[in-house]
Amino acid sequence: MTTTTQPLTGRFAPSPTGRMHAGNIYASLITWLLAKSSGGQIVLRIEDLDKQRSKPYFAEQIMRDYEQLGLTWDKGPFYQHERDETYAKAYDLLAQQGLVYPCFCSRADLHAQSAPHTGEAYVYAKTCRNFTKDEVINHTKRLAAQGRQPSYRLIVPSQVVEIPDLVQGRYCENLALDCGDFVIKRSDCSYAYHLAVVVDDAAQGITLVSRGVDLLSSTPQQIYLQGLLGLNTPEYAHLPLLVDKTGRRLSKRNQDASMEYLMERYHSPAGIIGALAVAGGLLESFEPITPQELLACHSFNSILEACKGSQAITWEPDK
Ligand code: GLU
Repeated sequence: MTTTTQPLTGRFAPSPTGRMHAGNIYASLITWLLAKSSGGQIVLRIEDLDKQRSKPYFAEQIMRDYEQLGLTWDKGPFYQHERDETYAKAYDLLAQQGLVYPCFCSRADLHAQSAPHTGEAYVYAKTCRNFTKDEVINHTKRLAAQGRQPSYRLIVPSQVVEIPDLVQGRYCENLALDCGDFVIKRSDCSYAYHLAVVVDDAAQGITLVSRGVDLLSSTPQQIYLQGLLGLNTPEYAHLPLLVDKTGRRLSKRNQDASMEYLMERYHSPAGIIGALAVAGGLLESFEPITPQELLACHSFNSILEACKGSQAITWEPDK
């Protein structure tokens, strides 16, 4: 049986590319409950690395939604768009170790050259890993003539990374075979998600990363980066995803999962929390309830038990 011996610091890490929907609210609720039931706290980090898709008004809206729902945070908001200098230092540390190389492949090249991975990810074929200095110069010029720049990849060894996930159990990947060399700096000069998230989790004192199971396969890369950068590895809890009746992950496409619809359907934030608590096995029958009230009837372990082993929860709001 899992026990917590210390208060855990969890995080909400929304990407401000749209308003919250049932899936985000469920994951945030579980994160909040896990952190609070351990006696810990929540950090809010706005993951706005993607400058084109991220909008300040979505960040504001998401914060208002959290507040309404009673999903409080103790520190932050911290914004990724303000932290390029910190990411640059981590990037330099990796580059100084000779672990980074420029990649000149276009999106089309990547699709043509890469071996398909189980699921949707691609394992990079190491096309640019062993280029000579001259080849690098030539490719850099070729891209510059098209107004483009290379991205930068981290070399990964053939090493198995094991995650003792609190919800999904033991999960293993071989970095070279299952992930491949991955991008840490993008061709638009922004730092990639894996690098930023690892640097931020450490800087913000995160000891519990609780998020959707769709990110489980990103975790080996993140643990590997933590090792190279001398950072602690937090506990991981990869939560079931809310899916629609056809088994597809909920997204903005699902109108009946949107915050607006949920407010209409359940009349209050406590109604929304109640419905999600029933779907997530935290409450037997529907009643409006606040996260604080739910916390009073649960322990860290009973919350984990409710999620354990599950990869998906079907969301049928009208049932
Ligand atoms: N920003 C990501 C999202 O909104 C979460 C990333 C993470 O939890 O590591 O899906």
